[in-house]
Amino acid sequence: MRNTPDEKKCPFCGEIKKASEFQRNASRPDGLTYTCRVCIPLYAAAPKRPKTDLSVVEKKCSNCERTLNARAFSYNQQSEDKLTDSCRVCRMFRKGKPSIEQVQEFELAMSKIYSESMEIFDHESDRSQFEAFVYTKMIDEGLLENWKPPVWMHSSSKVK
Ligand SMILES: [Zn+2]
Ligand SMILES: [Zn+2]
Repeated sequence: MRNTPDEKKCPFCGEIKKASEFQRNASRPDGLTYTCRVCIPLYAAAPKRPKTDLSVVEKKCSNCERTLNARAFSYNQQSEDKLTDSCRVCRMFRKGKPSIEQVQEFELAMSKIYSESMEIFDHESDRSQFEAFVYTKMIDEGLLENWKPPVWMHSSSKVK
């Protein structure tokens, strides 16, 4: 029998959630996916960590104050740990700093958009279609009024 915990901290949104908010994954030691359901598509679409001597695994965002996986931050050559001070999502806000409620609301909306897009396109092999779909959805949902497109999104997908 596997020892599945009742609760687990998601390393991508930093929240402690019930085991039912994760998916089953038999290949992992705790029998649950690495991130919570909401973060699975967000984590999959996030750029891989840059190849550096990064030793930091987790870091606290200076804005939303969540302690998150290093992949939730962008690469910053200037900083000592080579990561930005605030997480990617906080940096996507157009006007000043978002509140934690705004961040969570945005992550939930983006998670839905990513999942829909991943059902249609492979986010690795059909990258440009994937990005175009996400971008169009962001416009439809009015998200681009307050948020910038993800940094991994290339200009080619924004023209359409
Ligand atoms: Zn999560
Ligand atoms: Zn943040």
